[in-house]
Amino acid sequence: MIYPIVAFGHPVLKRKAKDVEVSQDLLAFIDDLYETMYAAKGVGLAAPQVGKGQRVFVVDGSPFAEDPENAVDSETLKTFKRAFINPVIVEESGEPWGFEEGCLSIPDIHANVIRHPNIVVHSVDEQGKPLVESFSGVPARIIQHEFDHIEGVLFTDRLQPLKKRLLKSKLNDIAKGNISTDYRMKFYLK
Ligand SMILES: [Zn+2]
Repeated sequence: MIYPIVAFGHPVLKRKAKDVEVSQDLLAFIDDLYETMYAAKGVGLAAPQVGKGQRVFVVDGSPFAEDPENAVDSETLKTFKRAFINPVIVEESGEPWGFEEGCLSIPDIHANVIRHPNIVVHSVDEQGKPLVESFSGVPARIIQHEFDHIEGVLFTDRLQPLKKRLLKSKLNDIAKGNISTDYRMKFYLK
């Protein structure tokens, strides 16, 4: 099932999501997240973006593998397709770097966001078994962006106040639904 994607301005995007139990229902929901992400041509999608306050997100970094700027991570990105269930970033390290981020909930806005390059993530797999994994570079970046969603944080929250002020009217337009996208969206203020 393809969900409409919740746009900037909806309170569900600002709420901290809750841990989930692994179940058949959850696995079916994860399939819906993939379907919704692919329909919108995204590389990641978190449950709050379809209006569900659950700590789960899916990623597929393969579209980024073609970009020469991501050459170092190209091999990893090609097969970087999976779900993260109840993830926690327990460690971030390395020299912070900038990467141009975008978001399906904030269409047509891109901005440079500074984050650490290396992370350690605890989560559970689709059988409920605990996982401890390390990621770096662009894959880590995608996880950090999606993890922010389940913490109620958007990439625009991480911008300098001046940059944020410059985007204010565009963000208001998105919240009010004054925007057109190739995928279906849901607006809180409309
Ligand atoms: Zn996003």
